[in-house]
Amino acid sequence: MSQTRHSRPHAAPPGAVHIDEGDAFAHLARHGAGAAHARAGQPGTRDAPPRLDVIVIGGGQAGLSVGHHLKRHGLRFVILEAHPRVGDAWRRRWDSLRLFTPAAFDALDGMRFPAAPGVFPTKDEMADFLESYAARFDLPVRTGVRVDRLSRENGRYVVRSGDLRLEADQVVVAMANYQAPRTPPFARALDPAIVQIHSADYRNPSQLREGGVLIVGAGNSGSEIAVELARAGRRVWMSGRDTGHIPFRTGSFVGRHVLVRLVLRGLFHRVLTVDTPLGRKVRPAVLARGGPLIRVMPRDLAALGVRRVPRVAGVRGGVPVLEDGTVPEVSNVVWCTGFHPNFGWIDLPVFDASGEPVHRRGVAGGSPGLYFVGLHFQYALSSTMIHGVGRDARHVTDRVLAGVRAARGAAAA
Ligand SMILES: Cc1cc2nc3c(=O)[nH]c(=O)nc-3n(C[C@H](O)[C@H](O)[C@H](O)COP(=O)(O)OP(=O)(O)OC[C@H]3O[C@@H](n4cnc5c(N)ncnc54)[C@H](O)[C@@H]3O)c2cc1C
Repeated sequence: MSQTRHSRPHAAPPGAVHIDEGDAFAHLARHGAGAAHARAGQPGTRDAPPRLDVIVIGGGQAGLSVGHHLKRHGLRFVILEAHPRVGDAWRRRWDSLRLFTPAAFDALDGMRFPAAPGVFPTKDEMADFLESYAARFDLPVRTGVRVDRLSRENGRYVVRSGDLRLEADQVVVAMANYQAPRTPPFARALDPAIVQIHSADYRNPSQLREGGVLIVGAGNSGSEIAVELARAGRRVWMSGRDTGHIPFRTGSFVGRHVLVRLVLRGLFHRVLTVDTPLGRKVRPAVLARGGPLIRVMPRDLAALGVRRVPRVAGVRGGVPVLEDGTVPEVSNVVWCTGFHPNFGWIDLPVFDASGEPVHRRGVAGGSPGLYFVGLHFQYALSSTMIHGVGRDARHVTDRVLAGVRAARGAAAA
């Protein structure tokens, strides 16, 4: 386990272990917070670690946004992040990935993205931005801590990661639904001679064998990878339902500076929310099928020779078979079939029959003091996007603050 405090942005290399002996969080690392003797409302000492108001799980844009607001309110908290470095969720995406949102829409509360407003940052620039955001606000992020269980004991939340045990009155699970790759069960039946890879593991065309490629899934990731492979000279088939697309070029001058604003800020952020009839109408479809294509247009795919084919029905004799019975001659399959949130470590009664958390604007039903931030269409279509996460983080932080005040009031009475 390592601890990354960001008080000195350039004093140590990113992800470096920095444990300050007098530091409350170093104390937690050594002793755990479960033994907290400090009364609520009192600062901890070296022998009695501070009682945490809230634990944030996930140190991506969602967790850092929540952390920023918790810090503004002076709450005692820690952000636990599984990866060795803040921003790694972005660093691990494919090499050529550029954001589809221009820098004007890649800011987080309190800090603008360090690029001209119309520039589309690379994924590594986004990762570095998150790291400098954590540093700028001196957020208590502890990297290399993968939470393996979240439960409730004696009225408090207990967070476990290996031997580490922390307790808090409130917990925010801060992460997008994109935590674990989802592939259909029949993927296992593919002939090993066919290279198969999920978009989460795809980096560049050199990972694939010579020959044709079947992209399964026609959303944003599938379309962008299809374009890259077609430009690299591959024969590409793309199967999957049409998710619709934005009808203008986001990269054009007018697109970047005017139309993107209307779509991202107007439509995705203000109109398509759970509080509007239109938002409630489109939400189930977006959750089931994903959002519209943002950068790639169907005509781009056609111009590059990408063949749109029906959905994959299964695997027969080790090869993929489409719903119309055809068998594309491919030596590679790239699964762009999405992700699941991987919430198996949350041992709390907050999930519906399909395994999705039951919540209202991120406030979990059935487990007071538990919150989510970053979920797909949590409040609006923008909820899982960089420019939309701040509003949800503020909403949840206000609820956390109310909970802390209530607990302190009760303790003082
Ligand atoms: C390919 C792709 C491109 C995208 N491009 C854009 C774009 O251009 N613009 C835009 O606005 N949005 C984009 N998004 C959507 C969104 O901005 C990203 O998915 C973003 O990474 C979501 O941030 P997050 O903090 O909600 O979740 P994540 O980035 O997934 O961060 C969650 C963090 O939680 C950690 N974690 C998970 N489980 C645990 C655990 N048990 N214990 C401790 N830590 C844990 C993970 O390590 C991770 O770092 C894109 C998404 C994808 C998949």
